[in-house]
Amino acid sequence: MQSASSGAGRQCPNCGGIMEFNIAKQKITCKNCNTELALEAPAHEPREHAFGEIKASAAQSNWDGATRVLACEVCGAEITVAAELTSLRCSFCGAPKLVPSGHSAGIAPEGLMLFKLGRQEAGIAFSKWLKTRFFAPSAMKTLAQADALSSVYSPFWTFDAQAEGDYAGEGGTTHTRIVTRNGKRETERYIVWTTVRGHVSRFFDDILIYAGGSQGKLLARLKDFDTAHGLIPFDGAYLSGFQAETYRLSPEAAFEDAKKTMTAELEGMARAEIRRSYDSERGTRLSASFLNVMCKHVLLPLWFSGFSYGGKAFCVVINGVTGKIAGAYPKSAAKIAAVVAAGLLLLAAIVWIFYTNS
Ligand SMILES: [Zn+2]
Ligand SMILES: [Zn+2]
Repeated sequence: MQSASSGAGRQCPNCGGIMEFNIAKQKITCKNCNTELALEAPAHEPREHAFGEIKASAAQSNWDGATRVLACEVCGAEITVAAELTSLRCSFCGAPKLVPSGHSAGIAPEGLMLFKLGRQEAGIAFSKWLKTRFFAPSAMKTLAQADALSSVYSPFWTFDAQAEGDYAGEGGTTHTRIVTRNGKRETERYIVWTTVRGHVSRFFDDILIYAGGSQGKLLARLKDFDTAHGLIPFDGAYLSGFQAETYRLSPEAAFEDAKKTMTAELEGMARAEIRRSYDSERGTRLSASFLNVMCKHVLLPLWFSGFSYGGKAFCVVINGVTGKIAGAYPKSAAKIAAVVAAGLLLLAAIVWIFYTNS
């Protein structure tokens, strides 16, 4: 058996056919002649760039000519595909046609996480999830079929930074005193507030910010990717047979989001620090600075099912490694009405029993 070193390309060494990553086999395989290439242990970790460096890098490449960027005229998604792929459906909304977008694929990814969950397993996870969505219309159950799912590599920026925060707040100490009110002696609690200043710091590794345009709200709930261990250096060969969503959020805009995440974390640390020395805390303000910021573009594996119901678009997203699901789905008016009616009947029955017995 041969092995796929980085840059092996997509052509089968045996027949010249197009090779694709096969999730079930966890190998690169040829659809023509079944030649299999094992995945080699990566020679290096995916590279991270100093943030200043990535800002300066020209985003023109289409990843060395290995890719094309297509657009969906229905949902507006922009999708990066291997250059040789044609006739594709939109992974996000299922529209049957994609057109050239005219945009660049931008900064090439440094890292990628391979799919572990195959189509069948993703379909099973999806139908299990659907069974617990009581208000989903019955007609939606058919959407959980495996062939309604599409695999997508979704774009994320990761940020590492040493975060430093100076804070000022107030720490409260609770005291008690005896007061006389209307001739009665009472114990009263009061708080003495003291201004507190301090410093907290923390190193953040791989803060993940979703950079695509389509499903940010859903993907914010699906960040359970172990990027410290599961990433391999990006190789165009892995993209063959898959669609990758083209990033829309620039590294600069993503860093603003990452700063909010890190600052909120530091503020929590500052408040906890004050509470360790005082009974209560209030009004803590923190100013943060970020040193040694490193950034990289990574593609993470997701299964999508986009569908429309009653004229509205919905989407369900499944983590392609862990199987965790986030989804928006229509609520069946008939089922809700049935539950409300059942509730009202129950209430009426209780009221009736109450009055006939009293
Ligand atoms: Zn072949
Ligand atoms: Zn679409």
